[in-house]
Amino acid sequence: MVPVVKLTVLGGAGAWPPAGGACSGYLIEHDGFRLLVDPGYATVPRLLEIVAAEAIDAVLVSHGHPDHVADLNPLLRARALRDDPAPALPTYALPGAVGAVLALDRPGVLDAAYELREFSAGDALAIGPFQVESRLLPHFLPNVGVRLTANGRSITYTGDAGSADDLVELAVGTDLLLAEATYVERVPADTVGRLNSALEVGRQARRAGAARLVLTHLQPGTDPGASLDAAGRAYQEWIAVATGGLVVELA
Ligand SMILES: [Zn+2]
Repeated sequence: MVPVVKLTVLGGAGAWPPAGGACSGYLIEHDGFRLLVDPGYATVPRLLEIVAAEAIDAVLVSHGHPDHVADLNPLLRARALRDDPAPALPTYALPGAVGAVLALDRPGVLDAAYELREFSAGDALAIGPFQVESRLLPHFLPNVGVRLTANGRSITYTGDAGSADDLVELAVGTDLLLAEATYVERVPADTVGRLNSALEVGRQARRAGAARLVLTHLQPGTDPGASLDAAGRAYQEWIAVATGGLVVELA
């Protein structure tokens, strides 16, 4: 059997975790390798319902906002504070993106729990079986969009990003575009160019020729149906909203 690329959504809330939910967190698996993308608020309890903390092979962080990285701390604690500590966890992030979270514990406690592999947006990486292309996408602080490819299947993830041609270029022909869509249609004036809407993400998915679209990072309280409708005005392929437990397999 040819191994699939499997996406499991741990959470897809923007900003803060709602009751029973979690912020951005995506488990992406291929051929037995488990990559955790964005350990946002409250994602570790959801993760531990699926796999043990020591079963994660690597972490990739899009940017340093806590709704994308805060739960790196409990993940590392779950691996380190035990009789048989797990190996150092390869942690890929832009320079400085995880420093505040790594500083939560006193020096030394988690030093052996991670191996920080900082990279620059634009770099090509190999993480386990995944080839990773990356682009700097516009946000309030440095944010990397990534395209993960294994076995000829790809997932392109925006992190948080305003509308950008670079995203469309990164996502051309991708099998799944996982795109921040904080707002339904209108991005507030003080946020334009830094966050996106479902309406605009639908347009970008169409321009890129993405085969599937998953909307994520919806502002808590947003009606998911309204987001689907807005994206669907421009994009007529398969669309879903990222909620905990959503699984998409790319065969
Ligand atoms: Zn952000």
